[in-house]
Amino acid sequence: MWVPPAWGLALVVTLLGWVPTPTVAQVPDSGTRVVILGTGNPNSDPDRWGPAVAVVVGGQAYLVDAGAGVVRRAAAAARIHDLPLTGIDLKRVFITHLHSDHTLGLPDLIFSPWVLGRLEPLEIYGPPGLERMTHHLLEAWREDIDMRLYGLEPQPYVDGYRAITHESRGGLIYEDEHVRVEAIPVAHGSWPYSFGYRFQTADRTIVISGDARPSRALIEACNGCDILVHEVYSSARFPSRSPEWKTYHSSFHTSTDELAEIATAARPGLLLMYHQLFWGDSDEDLEGQVRAAGYAGRVLSARDLEIY
Ligand SMILES: [Zn+2]
Ligand SMILES: [Zn+2]
Repeated sequence: MWVPPAWGLALVVTLLGWVPTPTVAQVPDSGTRVVILGTGNPNSDPDRWGPAVAVVVGGQAYLVDAGAGVVRRAAAAARIHDLPLTGIDLKRVFITHLHSDHTLGLPDLIFSPWVLGRLEPLEIYGPPGLERMTHHLLEAWREDIDMRLYGLEPQPYVDGYRAITHESRGGLIYEDEHVRVEAIPVAHGSWPYSFGYRFQTADRTIVISGDARPSRALIEACNGCDILVHEVYSSARFPSRSPEWKTYHSSFHTSTDELAEIATAARPGLLLMYHQLFWGDSDEDLEGQVRAAGYAGRVLSARDLEIY
């Protein structure tokens, strides 16, 4: 079959006056992609599902966090972006911390892909306490596991429901031929262990904050990285919160004003806000606040199912 050379295609495109529309951001033709599966938080916004991000490289998916609905969100991203994010592709996840909004999708991630035909156990990486949580999840669904294994349901995938946990206190936590993953200990209120993650691939460095108040460790982990995916709350709306909630937010999370300082020091190619607390603000409002607070780099407030 004859395939037109790239310059020929470019000529046709130019003659027809058709310009391809990028999907939100300029996505490289090949190489590492960051897919925002969910930008939400405990608020039940139907447009923002539980926090989960996928780094996709070398035909493999590396998930960060398992918010509510993660398997269906990944399936939606697989359909839109033609990436390996269907159930059986979900083989490993890096959990930032054990807050429920970041882990409600963990049983979904353990069990749903198994029924869909995942052959191998789910590998779960995260902080101390993860093993206990996973053990109890497997126990909670014990009746289901037994029914699927020994009932009438055809079930040749006998290992697919298992979960292998890898607890860490930070540092290099995972490495294969496509990626090195470091767990970055961050400050998140009174949590003894909460991580951001740094992904180093052949073409990109990506840092994902998880939940964190301003953390020097994240600035150092990024240090000119390609994308810094960072949580945030609205500085403009913060004064409307009650004194108790103000104390909580400033101890556990990062404001748009603080994020401007972090990003100025960290110098990412793109600052991507997620897990946003808007309190009535819009994506554009948050972007404007970060710029107004002095950040001169590129900043976007992410929406679910975007790709970067
Ligand atoms: Zn949290
Ligand atoms: Zn959270």
